[in-house]
Amino acid sequence: MDDVEFFRHDLGEEEQESIIAALGSVFLTTGPRTAKFEERFAQLLGARHAIGLSSCTAALFLSLKALEIGAGDEVITTPLSFIATSNAILHAGARPVFVDVEQRTGCIDLSQVERAISERTRAVMPVHLYGQMVDMRGLRALADRHGLAIIEDAAHAVEADRDGVRPGMLGDIACFSFYATKNMTSGEGGAAVTNDDTLARKLRTLRTHGMTKEVYARHQGDYQHWDMKSLGYKANMFDLQAALLLPQLERVEERWTRRDGICREYEAALRTLPNVDHPETVAGSKNARHLFTVWVPPARRDEILSALQGAGVGVAVNYRAIHLLSYYAERFGYRRGDYPNAEQIGDGTISLPLYPGLTTANALRVVDQLRRVMSGEGEPQ
Ligand SMILES: *Cc1c(COP(=O)(O)O)cnc(C)c1O
Repeated sequence: MDDVEFFRHDLGEEEQESIIAALGSVFLTTGPRTAKFEERFAQLLGARHAIGLSSCTAALFLSLKALEIGAGDEVITTPLSFIATSNAILHAGARPVFVDVEQRTGCIDLSQVERAISERTRAVMPVHLYGQMVDMRGLRALADRHGLAIIEDAAHAVEADRDGVRPGMLGDIACFSFYATKNMTSGEGGAAVTNDDTLARKLRTLRTHGMTKEVYARHQGDYQHWDMKSLGYKANMFDLQAALLLPQLERVEERWTRRDGICREYEAALRTLPNVDHPETVAGSKNARHLFTVWVPPARRDEILSALQGAGVGVAVNYRAIHLLSYYAERFGYRRGDYPNAEQIGDGTISLPLYPGLTTANALRVVDQLRRVMSGEGEPQ
């Protein structure tokens, strides 16, 4: 069969026109397009503020800085995520404390969070894995009982909703990614969303060295001096990124509907495949449908993964458990068995192609190939 790519973006004419217009304007860096994107992105999420950043990694890190979390502090998070989540905690100087995940969703198991809280705990950093939100009402109540902040890693979850709660509504800050394969993309990019005016102001200052005025503000009217009152970083979104993102805002729902349709095709086709499971969408949730992963028997995962690739199906692994990666295992002494559910999922997961341009016929062919590979039937046609 023809190859089915793992991912293909669908940026088209509107994005081309938008970026050409941006190239013809004065601002290439953080200017009017970034400001417009921030306003509309906040609107999309029903939040007061969105701050455009260079990545979700930067958003997670600056969120910790804005909340003044660092050396000596602990942040509770999940071992089943992209390494950016726990790396941001390490870069801030704090210690990530892992809590195992739920078997059915792969999201952090809230029933185990309370046990992981110590006097040093300052925040919880949940990940809305694959687009399934964690129970933010439950987590907010728990965090409030212990005086903890919540930083949501919402890199997969722009469109998500659970019990009427969207990312950024109950968390202190929610962090988004516009990396190449994310639901909205500018190749690289990110944003932090918050309803807290003070945190928003801090995040804005932190993204450009701690300068009290950014170039766009300085450019309007007469020259104004800026001051530096705190030590910041360099992590601002710039107008070429915003130019690529602005037209995508109009198509968020349409593109989600298509991905949701593909996921439903996958789920229906997989019902006939024994030994293959997939995460559940919890009742009352709108899954943002960022990644579609199947769970196969861990002992056969790598063999199935390469056979699928050999058959021309683009695949990925999201994710192997973080605590077993060499750096974490060596630095913190983690061992196999520490977080069994994350290990079980991490050892058995395979992500299948998912993007609006994937045809139903190709999605069904992907499942056919998986069936062939699993049953050990020779080379597919
Ligand atoms: C992609 C991703 C990130 C990092 O996003 P960047 O924009 O590449 O920094 C963080 N967390 C999760 C769960 C991700 O999938």
